[in-house]
Amino acid sequence: MADNNDQTPPKDGANAETRGFQTEVKQLLQLMIHSMYSNKEVFLRELISNASDALDTLRFEGVKDDSLFESDPELRIRVDFDKDARTVSICDNGIGMTRDQVIDRLGTIAKSGTKEFLAALSGDEKKDAKLIGQFGVGFYSSFIVADEVTVITRRGGEQQAVKWVSDGGGEYTLEDTTKAGRGTDVILHLREDEDEFLDSWRLKHLVRTYSDHVAFPIQMLEEPAPPSDDDDDAPKDVTPEWQQVNRGAPLWTRPKSELKDEDYAEFYKHTSHDFEDPLAWTHNKVEGSQEYTSLLYVPRRAPFDMWDPNRGSHGVKLYVQRVFIMDDAEKLMPRYLRFVRGIIDSNDLPLNVSREILQSNKVLDRIRSGSVKKLLGLLEDIAEKRPDDYKTFWSEFGAVLKEGVVEDSANQETIAKLSRFTSTHEGSEPQSVSLEQYIERMAEGQEKIYYITADSVAAAKNSPHLEVFKKKGIEVLLLTDRVDEWVMAHLTEFQGKAFQSVAKGALDLGEAETDEEKAEKEKLESESKDLLERLKTALGESVGEVRVTHRLTDSPACLVADEMGITSHLERILKEAGQSVPMSKAHLEINPTHPLVKKLDGEADEARFGEWAHLLHEQAVLAEGGELEDPATFVRRMNQMLLALSGGGSGDGGGNETDSAAA
Ligand code: ADP
Repeated sequence: MADNNDQTPPKDGANAETRGFQTEVKQLLQLMIHSMYSNKEVFLRELISNASDALDTLRFEGVKDDSLFESDPELRIRVDFDKDARTVSICDNGIGMTRDQVIDRLGTIAKSGTKEFLAALSGDEKKDAKLIGQFGVGFYSSFIVADEVTVITRRGGEQQAVKWVSDGGGEYTLEDTTKAGRGTDVILHLREDEDEFLDSWRLKHLVRTYSDHVAFPIQMLEEPAPPSDDDDDAPKDVTPEWQQVNRGAPLWTRPKSELKDEDYAEFYKHTSHDFEDPLAWTHNKVEGSQEYTSLLYVPRRAPFDMWDPNRGSHGVKLYVQRVFIMDDAEKLMPRYLRFVRGIIDSNDLPLNVSREILQSNKVLDRIRSGSVKKLLGLLEDIAEKRPDDYKTFWSEFGAVLKEGVVEDSANQETIAKLSRFTSTHEGSEPQSVSLEQYIERMAEGQEKIYYITADSVAAAKNSPHLEVFKKKGIEVLLLTDRVDEWVMAHLTEFQGKAFQSVAKGALDLGEAETDEEKAEKEKLESESKDLLERLKTALGESVGEVRVTHRLTDSPACLVADEMGITSHLERILKEAGQSVPMSKAHLEINPTHPLVKKLDGEADEARFGEWAHLLHEQAVLAEGGELEDPATFVRRMNQMLLALSGGGSGDGGGNETDSAAA
């Protein structure tokens, strides 16, 4: 808390120093000035947003320590300009900043992943502008219109104020200063061609357009209405007075019928620092045993750091009776909805609620589950009525929403219904097939929803595991997101239909198989008994069982996991993540009708049979995108066999001459 007993008088001009911006800030400033120029007036919205946040923080902290208000409890933001000095200023009496906070907040970017983000920008101004918008430019947008920015700030309850000045190059200066009222003044010295902002009408228009719904009064100096002509006693020189130019009521407290789409969009940009309009929103007033208002938005675009586990929150803000409490989104929204933005305003929580209380609070739990329902309902609505927007939504946030299948068992069915997949169905677009569509298309006799997991759509599509499904025209979902393995481990059925990995367990196509096909299968199995045993002996512990396949039509062999085991795809993901992999060997399934397997069956030389067997196993590993434990031996073996087949080598299963021939 602030030290109110500090008796040293505040200093002016002392402790001057020059500091360099963090490299990332320098880069961002350069990029922003160029690529954001066509949206230059956003600086005003951003600075007013910051001012409004500072007022929110003051009001929140003031609940516990009312000395922070000093003798100035009327919270407000003031926008002013000076034609002669060519400055525009945005001043708030919010919480303010200490010297250390200024250094920390106006000289660095704390967001992790910033370096990577900046490196990924293309240099194409239009594209970069959108991306920078996603990043959230905030305070630094001042430099789009200003060639020098001065910040004078004093933290509530502190004596000493500090002055920060920069021209947006590589450095800024700091020095002690005095400031009567607490809070922050941001003074922009405009660039050469930016005189348009030195105009009362223009500024007022911008405030009304972009910040009308800011919950605090935004004031500008206005001359009182001129006295009427016959009033001779009226003073000639009228002094302008501070007048409120925005509506000043929080948007979410207003009746829905009064609000236009533009109002919702502007409020979204104000609270989220996004530069684009939202994709959709839902505004609800809940009354009865529990009273709260929620206004939740789905953005059009994922924030650049959506996958960063340490991502700070710019998500859903909690208010209690209109007072901002926190923006720790996780208490209000589950992780799988971390892209959602907006506000929740409760009438039931106490104003002095602490983070500890919020940690496990029944009121908050109920608000959270009610809000999740509303949000999922909104998504269902978009999916049904606005398919193009849903496509946008799914491509941006689908992979995150799917995590909900695991995290939120209460809503699992709804989330599964909202999920979209790539599938083998002819003509279906990638990431567009819903489970309901899949079930509708299921052929008579098909009982399961078939899927395959792989690293890429190409690997999934060409996997040998799909052969019999292609032949029979059975649709298979191709799952290639990293979360899919994890999701599918938790999603066992949808609308009464079980999910079945095509790479797991003994394949049972149910009634999709005719009696003749079943008889044929049994015949093949009994005829292949000897071959299976020989293969198992040759391959030993490198495989589980060796059995006859019913999945393959064109390939000689494939690997199959146990029903309860993990697929080789998951095994690879776990290994990459440095996790220990449970020891269960995949089973090798062979296709006895394949010419190579037939040839193998006829091989009398056991040594050569062994080489063939290993080759069969190794190519099954490769075909599903796996890595060989010993690729060099595979290459040697393959070259040897090729030479033997073309009559060029000894083919004796271990000769050194073929080794050198291969190299
Ligand atoms: P963001 O608002 O996205 O965090 P900004 O670059 O706009 O990023 O601001 C950085 C930080 O500086 C803010 O998070 C806030 O802590 C502080 N700040 C900016 N403007 C003000 C202000 N008017 N009053 C108090 N603090 C401010």
